[in-house]
Amino acid sequence: MSKGTIIVTGGSRGIGAATSLLAAERGYAVCINYTSNSERAEQVVASIRSKGGKASAVQADVSDEAAVQSLFETAERELGPLTALVNNAGTTGKIGRLLDLDTKILRSVLDVNILGTILCARQAVRRMSTARGGQGGAIVNVSSRAAQLGSPNEYVHYAASKAAVETFTIGMAKEVATEGIRINCVSPGLVETEIHAAGGDAGRVQRIAGNVPLQRGGQPEEIAKAILWLLSDEASYCVGSILVVSGGR
Ligand code: NAP
Repeated sequence: MSKGTIIVTGGSRGIGAATSLLAAERGYAVCINYTSNSERAEQVVASIRSKGGKASAVQADVSDEAAVQSLFETAERELGPLTALVNNAGTTGKIGRLLDLDTKILRSVLDVNILGTILCARQAVRRMSTARGGQGGAIVNVSSRAAQLGSPNEYVHYAASKAAVETFTIGMAKEVATEGIRINCVSPGLVETEIHAAGGDAGRVQRIAGNVPLQRGGQPEEIAKAILWLLSDEASYCVGSILVVSGGR
C-alpha cells in the first residue's frame, strides 16, 4: 500500500541510505536528497527501483533556503504529495578541540545541522498541515547522543547543534500537534558510517566501541528501524519524543 512521498535528507549514504531503503520497503515513494555525491544517491535510487519501488534523487544543500524550496517542489512533482520527512543530513566538521576550530567550519556545521533541519521541517509543515489544506504527516529529526554527552575534545560545536535539533523537535512538535503532524527525534549513538572518516578519524567507532555498554558500534539499519517506527502509526501517541538508539551509551 502506498504511504505517499517521503523526503530523506542526506539519503545517499549511511543512516540516510538505510532509512531510504527501509522506507521504500514500507511503501513510501522516496526522495533521496544529497549535496554532492550524486553517484551514491543514484545507487540508492537504483536499488529501490530494482525492487519495484518509486524513488528519485534530488541535489540540494539543506542550509540553502532556495534549494530547500526547490527540493520539496521537485519531490512532490516527481513522486506525489509529501507525507513524511526525515531530517537526517548532518555534518561534524573536523574532530578536535573547539579552540582550534576554524569559524568557517563552525558556521557550516551550525548551518547544515540546525538551519537545514528547521528550513526542511518548515517546508514539510507548510505542505502537510491540515490547517493549510494538507493531509497531515510525520517528521523525524536525527540528533545525536552527543547532544547529551557534549563530546569534549572532539565535537563540542556539533554536540551543541544536535541539542538545538532536540529542542527544536520538542517545540515544533507542540506547535503543530493539532495539525495532523507528529514530530519526533531519533538520537543515535556511535554508528558505523563514513561520517567519522570525514571528520578525520576513520577508526573512531572501533576506538570508542569499548565504552558502549553493548560493546559495539551500531549499524545504520538499526537507526533506520527506529526512524520508520516513529513515522508509523504504531507511534501514534509519540509527539516531541527523543528516542535514544545508542547501545546504552
Ligand atoms: P554520512 O554517512 O556522513 O552521510 C551524510 C549524508 O548527509 C550524505 O548523504 C550527505 O550527502 C548528506 N549531507 C551532508 N551535508 C549535506 C547538506 N548540506 N545538504 C544535504 N545533504 C547533506 O552521515 P551519517 O553518519 O549517516 O549521519 C546521518 C545523521 O546521523 C547526521 O545527522 C549525523 O549527525 C547523525 N548521527 C550520526 C552518528 C554516527 O555515528 N554515524 C551518530 C549520531 C548521529 P553527500 O553524499 O552528497 O555528501
